[in-house]
Amino acid sequence: MSEVAEKYKQLIAFIRAHYSDQAAVPLHAPVFHGNEKRYLTDCIDSSFVSSVGEYVNRFEAMMRDITGAKYAVATVNGTAALHVSLLLAGVKANEEVLTQSLTFVATCNAIAYLGAAPVFVDVDEQTMGLSAEKLRQFLEQNAQKTADGCINRTTGRHIAAILPMHTFGFPCDMMSLMAVSREWQIPIVEDCAESLGSYIGSQHTGNFGLVAAFSFNGNKITTCGGGGCIVTNDDELGVLAKHLTTTAKQPHTWLFNHDMVGFNYRMPNINAALGCAQLELLPMLLADKRQTAQCYREFCKQHDIHYCQEPTGTQSNYWLNTVLTSSVTERDALLDYAAQQQVMCRPVWTPMHLLPMYAAAQHDELENTLQFAARIVNLPSSARMQSGS
Ligand SMILES: *Cc1c(COP(=O)(O)O)cnc(C)c1O
Repeated sequence: MSEVAEKYKQLIAFIRAHYSDQAAVPLHAPVFHGNEKRYLTDCIDSSFVSSVGEYVNRFEAMMRDITGAKYAVATVNGTAALHVSLLLAGVKANEEVLTQSLTFVATCNAIAYLGAAPVFVDVDEQTMGLSAEKLRQFLEQNAQKTADGCINRTTGRHIAAILPMHTFGFPCDMMSLMAVSREWQIPIVEDCAESLGSYIGSQHTGNFGLVAAFSFNGNKITTCGGGGCIVTNDDELGVLAKHLTTTAKQPHTWLFNHDMVGFNYRMPNINAALGCAQLELLPMLLADKRQTAQCYREFCKQHDIHYCQEPTGTQSNYWLNTVLTSSVTERDALLDYAAQQQVMCRPVWTPMHLLPMYAAAQHDELENTLQFAARIVNLPSSARMQSGS
């Protein structure tokens, strides 16, 4: 094992000081600093803990408010939200979805649940998200516009959607991606699981594609315990999203009629109760995390460490702070040292094209993806509100 560089020892000491109230510093712990207990108690007292209830309606209204989207449909988790989002975009079995290999496995699993296949395109160096330039290149080299839509000439399959993911809260270059989407007439579904509170200009992420999916898992910026949300500005899809995630039951006082194969993907009211309290905290959480990001940025600048910053013209939620080491050896030395010091750092996910389920997928050279996969280290990023700082 190679010796960790002095600057990284200092970084770990800096993290220990920043989170001085914790013996072991977690990567990202939730904070329950608001109305969580009050709303949970109220929810239990109401007896409406399950599939219907006022907190679900409130949660959806809050999500419309925060994102500015016309429709928000709460779901049981982010993966379910992605699954239905892709379905709403029209993805079918034996079709393809262009996405990034640098992502969490749920992005690809949602594609696979539909019997469709991912095709991997590289990410941008600046955004860590799907590269519009590489996407255009891939399409020019491999795709053909026909009367039936866009066909992949190599596989003969229909390319049904483009699925960018806003990595660690850094917004993708949606303007450029949308230009490619229009040019090739392929709809965009945004994986916003990590980007609640991230903006491009003044527009919240999730409003650029046809439909978008958010996650409220325990490790995200705000949590429902488990939860997700579909957002869209499309009237037809907004209504259909609710219908599909609630078993496709036709509204009736007592009759049980279902008109499609729907899903039991609705968010339980008890999770929504927790979620409402968390969403109330979002502005404070964002300010707290921006302050932590600023501390990291300054420290890294002084110590010649590559700290990853929000792309120009965007506002990141700084869900997970990220540094780029110079090599996999340097990364591993840092991770080993951090673990010894009980400071939870972690590498990025193994790229999707290297996992057995997706190893056969077509992909471009994925040059930036492989660089990031070898060199990224995520740093502890919890909000510090519980320590009162
Ligand atoms: C967390 C996450 C998901 C899945 O969300 P769950 O709520 O855990 O199902 C999907 N995509 C990305 C990129 C994520 O980080």
